[in-house]
Amino acid sequence: MNDAIIIGGGPGGSTVAALLAARGRRVIVLERERFPRFHIGESLLPYNWPIFAELGVLPALEAAGFPRKTGAQFHLGNGRKSLKLVFREGRFTEEPQTFQVERSVFDHLLLKNAASKGAGVREGWRFQRFEQLADRVRVEAADPAGAPHKFEARFLIDASGRGNVTGNQEGLRVIHPNLKKLSLFGHFTGVVRDDGAPGGDTVIVRLADKWFWFIPISATKISVGCVLDAAEFAAAKTPPEELFHRLVATSPVLRARMQDARLVGEFQTTGDFSYYNRRLTGPRLLRVGDAAGFMDPIFSAGVYLAMFSGRLAAETVEACLRQPFGTSWRLARYERKTFSALRFYWEMVEQFYTKPFMELFLEPRELWSIPAAVNAALAGELTGRWAIRWRMRIFFLLVKLQARRPLVPRIRFD
Ligand SMILES: Cc1cc2nc3c(=O)[nH]c(=O)nc-3n(C[C@H](O)[C@H](O)[C@H](O)COP(=O)(O)OP(=O)(O)OC[C@H]3O[C@@H](n4cnc5c(N)ncnc54)[C@H](O)[C@@H]3O)c2cc1C
Repeated sequence: MNDAIIIGGGPGGSTVAALLAARGRRVIVLERERFPRFHIGESLLPYNWPIFAELGVLPALEAAGFPRKTGAQFHLGNGRKSLKLVFREGRFTEEPQTFQVERSVFDHLLLKNAASKGAGVREGWRFQRFEQLADRVRVEAADPAGAPHKFEARFLIDASGRGNVTGNQEGLRVIHPNLKKLSLFGHFTGVVRDDGAPGGDTVIVRLADKWFWFIPISATKISVGCVLDAAEFAAAKTPPEELFHRLVATSPVLRARMQDARLVGEFQTTGDFSYYNRRLTGPRLLRVGDAAGFMDPIFSAGVYLAMFSGRLAAETVEACLRQPFGTSWRLARYERKTFSALRFYWEMVEQFYTKPFMELFLEPRELWSIPAAVNAALAGELTGRWAIRWRMRIFFLLVKLQARRPLVPRIRFD
């Protein structure tokens, strides 16, 4: 019998697959697409680095020549204020750098790594439904020709991303009422980028109720996208690319970066509603990455969370296979830790859309090393270190105070 069936060969699925296969477990990955395939989500976090090391993919990532990201920049669209965060300058930040990646290449590299460790990767196979049996799960899937097949395994890992296949089957998805967003994006050449190390930064440009990302994914190509309310997009009744350029034209910061930009390939649109599933586990099921929950990508945490939860899922399944006694307790612990990681970024995202948060965020003061805690949190420090947690609580408290009485100067978006 298989030890685990993994739905989806994105970063979450291939992390679980590689770690379990490396321990000699029988693992099947069902991936509906054929890799390499396009995927959005190109800016990684520094705390991805130790996971890359554990997976043994650092040499391959270095050889792929991806740009290095050593910081992140946040600018107001009117150019009046900005913050340049350098990870190595954060007192609590233990990982100073990461990569910016073209996901088609990155995801393929991770999936091939899982296969090289012994995972049975089946591309072009579509998961359809699962059934919980007493001591195993049964999965129905269609092969590339559409023919039905059944598989059984001790555990099922749902890493289907925003496909959210098992959460949908069980009706568990909760959509955030205020974060119903949509993204307009493309890859461009000719975009202005900073000189030296900051040229590898993710650049975020914040307008009143929307924001743009700039992510350098190769020496010449930059991913540029805009996240706005889905309702605003619907009301605009304007073709996506035209709306994108109209929004660029409203900001001097955006205009300066985009003046000579040329689109490479297709201009794209995707919905990005934030959601989570009410449960992240079943008796023999673990949901990882976007199949656990997805949030607005402002802090570039999606791939990291997928690999963070993927690693945790692999450790949990491995422990349960070795010692079945205590399975439900281990699954509950997995759920608790994954929810806590999701909740942290969820709260940051909700705050990002408020003005008081931006006011304090863009004007860091050396009070109790709070900026250092924010630096670590945005690099992906999720180990729950008390030194960071209490500072983040104070930071959020200060945001509440700022809403009532200005502790730092107010900002304007116009
Ligand atoms: C506009 C936008 C911008 C983003 N920007 C960033 C960013 O800068 N940085 C960042 O870290 N994250 C970003 N994200 C989030 C990031 O894309 C995801 O969090 C990340 O890809 C999650 O990885 P995953 O492995 O959980 O899922 P995915 O990478 O989505 O992989 C899931 C896989 O499952 C497969 N699958 C789905 N259904 C089935 C099925 N029925 N059968 C078999 N296979 C199936 C899919 O084909 C896919 O390959 C962004 C997201 C959006 C929408």
